[in-house]
Amino acid sequence: MSLIEELREEVSGCRRCPELVKNRSQVVFGDGNPFSRVLMIGEAPGVEEDQQGIPFVGRAGRFLTEELAKIGIDRKKYYITNVLKCRPPENRDPTAEEIANCAGFLGAQLALIKPLIIVLLGRYGLQELVKKTFKISEVHGKPIRGNGVIFFPMYHPAAALRDPRVKEAFILDIKRFRKLLEREGIL
Ligand code: URA
Repeated sequence: MSLIEELREEVSGCRRCPELVKNRSQVVFGDGNPFSRVLMIGEAPGVEEDQQGIPFVGRAGRFLTEELAKIGIDRKKYYITNVLKCRPPENRDPTAEEIANCAGFLGAQLALIKPLIIVLLGRYGLQELVKKTFKISEVHGKPIRGNGVIFFPMYHPAAALRDPRVKEAFILDIKRFRKLLEREGIL
């Protein structure tokens, strides 16, 4: 078994957050190509992700997948996961304690995948991996370099679906993301 599959097994039995354990159908660990140089990180699974055990398969996920396809990228080429591996009930925001409980799993995924580019979908990944005080509205679409990786913050696709102006910014950022891939020789 590969190391990433061993980690998946370990995470699937996690019982650190009682409320999440009680409400989840399953842990949503991650999906895609673990050898990719690009890792995408969202917030937490929603209802469809919880049922299927795969991140970003609901409405927001389908929108993300379609927008990537429009710029010629098959999402399956990348690895995709979330800050939180379990669905918060009623899709409430993750708590600081839940994020802290799950942080080691995200860290272990990062250590195994060793991405060059980390796309941060929404504020949770940004604040967890870059800086607690950063706001997506201020830094989206701008690569942030540090520790040998390039963070690329974007609005969360669910936010883009809620607000036409955010959607416009999201689509522009997808194009900027493609340019970044070209510059880094990843396309
Ligand atoms: N939103 C997320 O942040 N992650 C998912 O997996 C689905 C929706």
